[in-house]
Amino acid sequence: METLNGNAVAKVLKESIKTEVLALKSKGVKTPHLAAILVGSVGASMTYVAAKEKDCHEVGFDSTVLRFPETITEAELLAEVEKINNNSAIDGLIVQLPLPKHINEKKVTETISWKKDVDGFHPMNVGLMFKGLPCFLPATPYGIIKLLEHYKIETTGKHCVIIGRSDIVGKPMSALMLQKNCTVTVCHSKTKNLKEMTLQADIVIAALGIPEFLKGEMVKEGAVVIDVGITRVDDASNPKGFVLKGDVDFASVSPKCSFITPVPGGVGPMTRVGLLLNTLDAIKRNQDLRSKM
Ligand code: NAD
Repeated sequence: METLNGNAVAKVLKESIKTEVLALKSKGVKTPHLAAILVGSVGASMTYVAAKEKDCHEVGFDSTVLRFPETITEAELLAEVEKINNNSAIDGLIVQLPLPKHINEKKVTETISWKKDVDGFHPMNVGLMFKGLPCFLPATPYGIIKLLEHYKIETTGKHCVIIGRSDIVGKPMSALMLQKNCTVTVCHSKTKNLKEMTLQADIVIAALGIPEFLKGEMVKEGAVVIDVGITRVDDASNPKGFVLKGDVDFASVSPKCSFITPVPGGVGPMTRVGLLLNTLDAIKRNQDLRSKM
């Protein structure tokens, strides 16, 4: 069994992004600039945005975080998004989810210009992705593909079973694994006999948000297992008061795997790199630099 080390691969990819940023700057191109909108003060969201800000600085991007109180109205937030859409200094925009209940997330996501939509959530980018055309890929599936490629994991002709059909992980993951020539099965909360499906899988991607859901008895010998899940589970013995748990029961699954991602240190850091790659791509695309590079 080999552990897929997301931290190490992310480090390599960040170095190459940093090099590309320097190359762009030497050609007189502006510094890539990612803006993030953060509404309210939910602990996890604040942590994620801070991490994204740190990543930007590490690779030489500019980053701006726009913080708004939880009381901001939907109309005010949409106006802020429009302001960034029209600001040529900013190349990519993300709105940290979840938003307060009185704000329609779909409306906000769809108001972000698809040319700055580095989260890849806009229907335009989703459509382009399903057609296999250039677009911003959702960061988590994008990061997972990069991880599989880094370890040269064979996908052609393999049976990939994805657990979860969310718009940000399961559905886009299915499109990308199809493009990698897998036979894809997508399972979800209404799937019957899930264990029968996972036992057939050469590659299992667990993205359902139930800690340690996937057990060793559900996985065949030699499978590749990708654990997307991150759930904060209360743990009084931990100084933070919680521990992060994946959707895979690592103790029982890992002895059967050829490759497996740990939690933390697997998919999480690759997701963060996915966002950086999209932001770099945004500046190349929006400035129509590709032909000149
Ligand atoms: P979601 O809640 O939007 O979707 C969960 C999916 O799991 C649904 O499609 C549902 O049908 C399915 N599901 C629920 N119970 C099930 C069951 N018993 N059997 C089979 N399928 C079931 O979740 P999401 O946004 O896709 O996130 C999934 C997990 O991945 C969460 O733990 C989330 O925190 C984590 N996540 C991690 C990263 C990362 O960077 N590592 C990124 C995104 C999401």
